[in-house]
Amino acid sequence: MVRVISSEDAEPEFRRRSVRGVSLFIAESAAETMIQAADDDAMRDSETMGLMIGRAYRDDSGEYAVVERVITSDRIADSDGVRFDPEGMSELIDGVDGMSEGEHIVGWYHSHLGCGCFMSDTDVSTQHSVFGRGMGFAVVIDPLRGEFAVFDNSEIPEKAQMVIVQ
Ligand SMILES: [Zn+2]
Repeated sequence: MVRVISSEDAEPEFRRRSVRGVSLFIAESAAETMIQAADDDAMRDSETMGLMIGRAYRDDSGEYAVVERVITSDRIADSDGVRFDPEGMSELIDGVDGMSEGEHIVGWYHSHLGCGCFMSDTDVSTQHSVFGRGMGFAVVIDPLRGEFAVFDNSEIPEKAQMVIVQ
């Protein structure tokens, strides 16, 4: 069963984060997969998009998430490139299976080709349509500039602190 983290009513499990001030922890293998996908798609002059699967926790300073793996689907990329709309995202979410107990979709990632890492108006509306008002992170990668950034799910998404973990 596919669950977007913000659709859950239950409070995330209490567990103190390992680095203070960090709201997203990304497994090294997941980070490598995202960067590789962005690189591969850039070679085809295409942007990439996928979902980040992991777990949500809370501690004294609030909620945070751990990305364990990422998934993507060929179905969302066609000759017009990646579709950055809620429909494309829904299609991707529908394609998710094999999630284990406690796993959620904690965010999504996509790439920009040479214009840097930021959240465009379309990115923001896509993010809000999927994650609502709750937790949900957006990773933006620019493989041409070698940039990688994480944004939170505020009204106007702000850069969030993240660390790569083994
Ligand atoms: Zn974008």
